[in-house]
Amino acid sequence: MSDRSRAVTPTHDSPAAEGYEPDVPITVSPILDWPPRPAATLRHISSMMLPQGLIWVGLAAAVWNFFTPSMQRMATLSPRWILEIYVRNVVLFTLVAGTLHTVLYVRRAQQQRYKYERKWLSTANREFLWNNQTRDNVFWCLVSGCGVWTAYESLTLWAYANGWIPQVEWRSAWLYLSMLTVLTSLWSVTHFYCIHRVLHMRWVYDHVHYLHHRNVNPGPWSGLSMHPVEHMMYLSMFLLWWVVPAHPFILILTLSSNSVATAVTHSGFERYEIGKRRGPSMKGADYFHHLHHRYFECNYGNRPVPLDKLLGTFHDGTPEAHARMRRRMKARRGRTGPRT
Ligand SMILES: [Zn+2]
Ligand SMILES: [Zn+2]
Repeated sequence: MSDRSRAVTPTHDSPAAEGYEPDVPITVSPILDWPPRPAATLRHISSMMLPQGLIWVGLAAAVWNFFTPSMQRMATLSPRWILEIYVRNVVLFTLVAGTLHTVLYVRRAQQQRYKYERKWLSTANREFLWNNQTRDNVFWCLVSGCGVWTAYESLTLWAYANGWIPQVEWRSAWLYLSMLTVLTSLWSVTHFYCIHRVLHMRWVYDHVHYLHHRNVNPGPWSGLSMHPVEHMMYLSMFLLWWVVPAHPFILILTLSSNSVATAVTHSGFERYEIGKRRGPSMKGADYFHHLHHRYFECNYGNRPVPLDKLLGTFHDGTPEAHARMRRRMKARRGRTGPRT
């Protein structure tokens, strides 16, 4: 194992940070409960997805209508329109991650209020390119992250433009496409859980996923800071639209929301203050996933489809859940030997 990967091998013993601790236990959607609870599930999922979900849908609609080359142009592969999509994706991601980073970490507009970890982002750590966490993260997001995102998007738009994959139109299938707009997020979370379990297999972790996990204390640029192989795996949820009839808007929503939302979920602040201190605030980062960055071996998926709860890897933020995780890791080490 290389020095770099050894340095980020999890210990599972990290003490809870002294920063902001949100209300626990973390709740998850009852979508997998038996007998089914459709009303409670709908309530829980809408409370989790609003208002951010609407913002991602609005952004994707704007991108599809105003910032995507015409189908006629995209019928022929050309570096020119692919470059246009890449630049648009870089601008979109930078607008969200850059704004959050500038407000929360450069201007420190709300200081430590709602911040999970006391520490600020690292500026002298040899684990990161140029010893600087932010510069390193920006590099992986914009070069590899936006690169893979653009490649997947361009390839699929080219296929749509030539009629090689199934497409339906809003005029004739608006109800179906509206349902896909909502279900996309549930599919993405399920897909994320599955590929994330693979990423935590020892060899894959040591060679690929370690890069994302160097961000024990993540910031907005950490979300899409991944190894290129992880980008290819993480964003591969779009492949569903090669077999299930959909629409280019659904493709753009799937790829853009799963890329851009990572800047919010990894921002490190539970809430964003709007205006004055102690004034109104809106939901920010995702504590469920933050616990994954803090402890590594829990919360592989996310709350809308709580596969972690079903499969015994859920950490709800309480000391009891922490003790359960420690016992589980100890039993695993007993079976497989220490992870060094
Ligand atoms: Zn993460
Ligand atoms: Zn992980």
